[in-house]
Amino acid sequence: MKILVPIKRVVDFNIKVRPKADGSGMDLDNVKMAINPFDEIAMEEAVRLKEQGKASEVIAVSCGTTLSQETLRTALALGADRAVLIESSEELQPLAVAKLLKALVDIEQPDLVILGKQAIDDDCNQTGQMLAALLDRPQGTYASKLAVDGEQLLVTREVDGGLETLRLALPAIITADLRLNEPRYVTLPNIMKAKKKPIQILTPAELNIDITPRLRTLKVSEPPVRPAGVKVPDVATLVAKLKHEAKVI
Ligand code: AMP
Repeated sequence: MKILVPIKRVVDFNIKVRPKADGSGMDLDNVKMAINPFDEIAMEEAVRLKEQGKASEVIAVSCGTTLSQETLRTALALGADRAVLIESSEELQPLAVAKLLKALVDIEQPDLVILGKQAIDDDCNQTGQMLAALLDRPQGTYASKLAVDGEQLLVTREVDGGLETLRLALPAIITADLRLNEPRYVTLPNIMKAKKKPIQILTPAELNIDITPRLRTLKVSEPPVRPAGVKVPDVATLVAKLKHEAKVI
């Protein structure tokens, strides 16, 4: 079984980002970037399937600028066998990414694509679902458990109010949720080994994909500042405040 894992380069989750002064977008100058955390979980799951002898090859793919090669090196150090960069300096929205991934799936024919459930920069939560629709393949989103059963896949999904288990026919599309696994740390020997693994570079034009954005960002602004809390002297004042001042938001 061949597994494709799409990896997005995003702002490191520890960094607090700010909008640009003119509100045209986020200020990302000199900001630390990292592999999208859900994609790290997706990669870990693919590598575990390979270690269990259920997968034969794990391919990482990223769509973005040449800097995404650094993120792909991390994916290779986590255990991917090889990587593909679909290089573009244009803004890539989820539909464009899904189309690029579909083009690569058409070439590579993976049995399984494991994406993150969402990218923590745009929080779109769309790419996996769009890819499944474009490919007309079964999808298991928000996966918290995965088991290969012959030509089928048992996927436990985190849904509102509980868990749902689906049986999907391969080839299929999965999106990884937080509890699917705990990714391993990248070790120095694996970083060294990753340097020797190949990264193939393709372009949207070579794949014949139109990546023109469909959405335009009108304005990005900070959320409104919350008023400071107050301390009340006694229960009676609290009850009075709840009665007369508290509002349902
Ligand atoms: P999103 O729909 O933007 O929240 O992203 C969901 C998932 O799609 C991510 O966790 C990645 O697995 C994949 N993805 C999104 N953007 C890219 C990209 N530029 N390159 C590779 N994979 C991506």
